[in-house]
Amino acid sequence: MKQAITGYRKDDENDWVAELACGHFQHVRHNPPWTNRPWVQSPQGRQEMLGYYLHCKKCIEGAPLDY
Ligand SMILES: [Zn+2]
Repeated sequence: MKQAITGYRKDDENDWVAELACGHFQHVRHNPPWTNRPWVQSPQGRQEMLGYYLHCKKCIEGAPLDY
């Protein structure tokens, strides 16, 4: 299930979390070599990814909303 990024926040460990249009949050860590998302580290990169569609596992699982 693809959901657009509508905003960002940080979790308790200072990792970036994307807020998705469906109401779920999803970590968007930059944690090489496993997860390589250099864009999340700059304000401009995050801005450019607004509206980008991420695959939301929580929607498929029917997880409660994170808002
Ligand atoms: Zn979702």
